[in-house]
Amino acid sequence: MKKTYQGSCHCGAVVFACETDLAAGTIRCNCSFCSKARFWMILVKEADVRIVQGEDALTDYRHTPAHMPEPFLHLTFCRHCGVRPFSRGGFLPMMGSAFFAVNVACLDATDEELASAPVNYPDGRNNAWEKPAPYHYL
Ligand SMILES: [Zn+2]
Repeated sequence: MKKTYQGSCHCGAVVFACETDLAAGTIRCNCSFCSKARFWMILVKEADVRIVQGEDALTDYRHTPAHMPEPFLHLTFCRHCGVRPFSRGGFLPMMGSAFFAVNVACLDATDEELASAPVNYPDGRNNAWEKPAPYHYL
């Protein structure tokens, strides 16, 4: 069931709210970015995220995989504390809208909610998002 969570970076400069259902599945991707950032995310429609404060504290690191239209991904992080509360992406057909990849670890979810959230491991490294990655170590 969808629920509204508050989220923030570490220092609190960036605060956001998002409506999502952690039980619907989170993602640990093995692409070149997510594996280095150890990004644990959940995809949320753009309309279900609201930046409460700190948009001006976000640094926009852009990286777009070769097969995606440019500019597709904005891998933002807080310029004060370096934490990545979310990334933003362009139109994603499976979601029917632009999206946020919200950092699950930045949500004010309870330990029980985080521990019970299912994790999917797509093979982003090989642009095979519909297939599981061969190794799950993130
Ligand atoms: Zn911060």
